[in-house]
Amino acid sequence: MKFEQYRILPEIKRAIAEQGFRKPTDIQYKVLPKVLAGEDILGIAQTGTGKTAAFVIPVLHLLASEKKFKTLRCLVMVPTHELAQQIADVFKSLGRHTRLKILALFGSTEQDPQIRALQQGVDILVTTPGRMFDLHAQGHIRFEHVKFLILDEADRMLDLGFYKDIDDVKKLLPRRHQTLFFSATIDDKIKKLAYSTVTNAIRIQISPDDPVSKNIDHSVVMVEMDDKRFFLERMVLENSGQKMVVFVRTKVRAERVAAAMQRVNIATVTLHSGKVHQERKEAMNAFKTGKVSILIATDVSARGVDIPEVEYVINYDLPEVAENYVHRIGRTGRGTHKGKAVSFCSKEELPLLDEIERYLGYSIASQTLSDLEYQETLLFSNEESRTFKDVMKEIADFEGAAKKRKKK
Ligand code: ADP
Ligand code: MG
Repeated sequence: MKFEQYRILPEIKRAIAEQGFRKPTDIQYKVLPKVLAGEDILGIAQTGTGKTAAFVIPVLHLLASEKKFKTLRCLVMVPTHELAQQIADVFKSLGRHTRLKILALFGSTEQDPQIRALQQGVDILVTTPGRMFDLHAQGHIRFEHVKFLILDEADRMLDLGFYKDIDDVKKLLPRRHQTLFFSATIDDKIKKLAYSTVTNAIRIQISPDDPVSKNIDHSVVMVEMDDKRFFLERMVLENSGQKMVVFVRTKVRAERVAAAMQRVNIATVTLHSGKVHQERKEAMNAFKTGKVSILIATDVSARGVDIPEVEYVINYDLPEVAENYVHRIGRTGRGTHKGKAVSFCSKEELPLLDEIERYLGYSIASQTLSDLEYQETLLFSNEESRTFKDVMKEIADFEGAAKKRKKK
């Protein structure tokens, strides 16, 4: 079925067509009529399969059909600033021919412009919890007309830290409202939490067998911890100009890898919680526009981020939580695009690899490098200190061996 055939407002159909969407994706096909019918939903579908428009389209339709503009009627809660902005942008672009007002709200930015926007009237608010509670406490947000509560990256939102926020916000909403959860991954614990917050959610799950999208070609390569930067350098140079997201375990490591790349004249930007909003925004912009083609990120910071032209994801470090593997590599292969992902696994990380494979239910394809190929990668590096260090080590090894020989 094509979007044209749906019974949704013509102004929304027009925007959908302008966006270049002709047919709904599987999750959109299943979710759309259920939202229109007033159901609560737990929607699980692989990364990059269009979960955003699956809730944006029916919500826009229902809100724009109701002639009650400038009244907060939909609240979307997400874990990061980037995601709040991105989802607000999808609402804005698909809702461009309607009169609905959409606002993205998040912390570590000035409050005043946000307060002004709220005072002018907002229909749809996409927000991280902290700032929303602040502004509510100050009397700038009223929840009494909210009909939709949407949690994107729901497993993350229901996990420790945010669960109480969701519980608190539920108490502020009118008794009758629809709750929509979306995520690419969900475990039993989170599923229970989800069902404890809504009474009769319908679960809609697309292709549960492999949580990894078929558009992603993913593999693992064994690399010693200390050699990872040389492998990254090689991958960047061999795929020059292509957009790449590199995942590391911590923000400190993100900066360290960025510095190592800088030493070999590779420009990168970093995205992690140690940066203020403005820096994050600049980093994302530089990456989106292609000014810088390498983004180094931590797990949480890149959840849900949709940049269609990302060709490669590199797990510089393996993720410590198995399902984050799925979220990380899901930054590529989005929509109709194909993508590649490679994980650098050191000996120390083998137990993590094991856990990821157990989670996926299969072994990840492994690229085997011959000694020669491996050594070549180290030699190929432009890092000057490396060759110097190598020479010093060779001398030390040689002298050590000579001493041993003498003793004999
Ligand atoms: P998810 O949240 O499932 O990871 P997104 O909602 O971010 O995925 O969508 C991934 C990409 O697919 C986006 O770039 C979006 O524009 C595109 N997309 C969504 N719906 C359609 C559609 N019906 N036809 C073509 N492309 C689509
Ligand atoms: Mg998403």
